[in-house]
Amino acid sequence: MAAGDGNGWVQCRCGRRHWGLHGAAGLLLARNADGATHDGLDVLLQLRAGWTHQGGTWGIPGGAVDSHEDERAGALREAYEETGVPPLSVRVLDSMVSTDHVDWRYHVVLGVPAGPIRPRATTAESDDVRWVPAGEVTTLPLHPGFAASWPALLPKLVELARASRS
Ligand SMILES: [Zn+2]
Repeated sequence: MAAGDGNGWVQCRCGRRHWGLHGAAGLLLARNADGATHDGLDVLLQLRAGWTHQGGTWGIPGGAVDSHEDERAGALREAYEETGVPPLSVRVLDSMVSTDHVDWRYHVVLGVPAGPIRPRATTAESDDVRWVPAGEVTTLPLHPGFAASWPALLPKLVELARASRS
């Protein structure tokens, strides 16, 4: 067990390769929107730097899970590294497998801020980190994996966020 031991490519039965020897995980963080958007939520998205794999696309902060981590720990660590949001400032509501290729899985951890946070691009892997109204997510050039899972993630997120407020 060592930090970063999940870094590497998996040659998947789908014919493509995916990043994360033990799978990968990301954090979908939502907050109540200040203005009125159709879902009333903003989500925290990251613009992947142009030089990275699938660079120039928007997605959630995340990456490879290390061998000693569960998906939740991996997602929170990656989100901290990439956006500066401390794990203790996130209230985790749920997690779900957004991509399951058997040889490789992507877990999305859904959460809301547990206190004041100031997300920002903290590594060279990010060109930008921004709160995006949920209703505008699909207007951005999205990472293909995130784009494919967003239609399933959005209703789950809305349901969880509503429940967390009551
Ligand atoms: Zn695959």
